[in-house]
Amino acid sequence: MTDTSSCLSRAPENRALSAAEARDRMLAEVVPIAGRELVPVRGALGRILAADIIAPHDVPAHDNSAMDGYAVHFAGLAATGETRLTVVGTAFAGSAFSGLVGKGQAVRIMTGAVLPAGADTVVVQEATRLEDGVVIVPAGQRQGQNTRRAGEDLARGAVALPAGKRVGPAELGLIASLGIAEVEVRRRLRVAFFSTGDELASIGKPLAPGEVYDSNRYTLHGLLTRLGADIIDLGVVPDRPEALEATLAEAAQAADAIITTGGVSVGEADFVRDILDKLGEVSFWKLNIKPGRPMAFGRVGKAWLFGLPGNPVAVMVSYTQFALDALLRLSGLDPLPERPLLTVAAGNAIKKQPGRREYLRGQVVAVDGRWQVKITGNQGSGVLRSMSEANCFVVLPEECAGVNAGDSVQVQLFDGL
Ligand code: AMP
Ligand code: MG
Repeated sequence: MTDTSSCLSRAPENRALSAAEARDRMLAEVVPIAGRELVPVRGALGRILAADIIAPHDVPAHDNSAMDGYAVHFAGLAATGETRLTVVGTAFAGSAFSGLVGKGQAVRIMTGAVLPAGADTVVVQEATRLEDGVVIVPAGQRQGQNTRRAGEDLARGAVALPAGKRVGPAELGLIASLGIAEVEVRRRLRVAFFSTGDELASIGKPLAPGEVYDSNRYTLHGLLTRLGADIIDLGVVPDRPEALEATLAEAAQAADAIITTGGVSVGEADFVRDILDKLGEVSFWKLNIKPGRPMAFGRVGKAWLFGLPGNPVAVMVSYTQFALDALLRLSGLDPLPERPLLTVAAGNAIKKQPGRREYLRGQVVAVDGRWQVKITGNQGSGVLRSMSEANCFVVLPEECAGVNAGDSVQVQLFDGL
């Protein structure tokens, strides 16, 4: 029998190292890098602010009109019936009316134009009639309507954007709206990475028997480039202690963080463990998840080490669920973004034993106007094709004992806008 509700709730369990526990442990240890630099506004896209951005003036800077219409003095309008006002000029966006709107007068005004002295209210053009330079305004206007007040978005001296915020398109526009040309951001995180495995072949050469092409470095290239890190690709390292030790030492010199793939599973970890003990302080974790059960985390010299499993999909799961948040924290991001879990109907049944948290590859699709998620084929932890076809992870909590088609499940979408 499938217990529907248990596939939605978050597990309170604590058997092996749970996903939540692993993430919390990592985040408790890493601290942001200190370096900062000044960049032109456009160059700040994707970067993390190193200091608060303070509004140097009010936004908007002046009271202005939100509509095309007539700027009037509200107190001069008749409470009932029409009011006839002489049009004494025009205010354009960027070209203000310099006079005063006196008793019995109005100024024609365009959207964005500064509200002339004496006017406090804008009557939209469509509500009025114009007769020989006289505008006729009906009753029923509200004081202040259709105007935008100086400082309504941001008051001068207010924190427009806090330090620790990642700059996206809205932030670029906001910074520009303040007239600021350069911003102080954290320097980019330097991340070194390499693949381990005697069976790994480099692309562009024929495969010898028993070899597989090294794909993890390409996936990581994509993930880390998107993160906005400066990347150092150290290639493929064979399963030889001296080679691994030399590469780790090189990586620790060059980078803030090191990501390795492969070599952390039970069968392989022994010599890796010895080297990591020698060079730093690294814990080997067994996580209560699938895929991505083995993982190493700790320090090698001054650098943080994330030892991810070798299987290509396990790499993506452990990166996105664990390493990513730690890398963001290292980069100076604060607070960390909460990745939303959305509830949708399962488009098909999913087999699962209670015990581990599972991340399945799914595609959220609209069926007859309702969103549901379908599992994208073979879920083997080496199968990248089903990853590529997916637009989300279906996250099944530890206690979930299987899903029937139509049950509610939680998904984590890969991309936003
Ligand atoms: P490991 O964690 O080193 O035992 O590797 C687990 C599985 O992932 C093995 O089948 C490896 O051949 C495969 N694998 C490890 N590293 C890579 C890589 N860089 N690219 C593709 N497959 C890999
Ligand atoms: Mg290996």
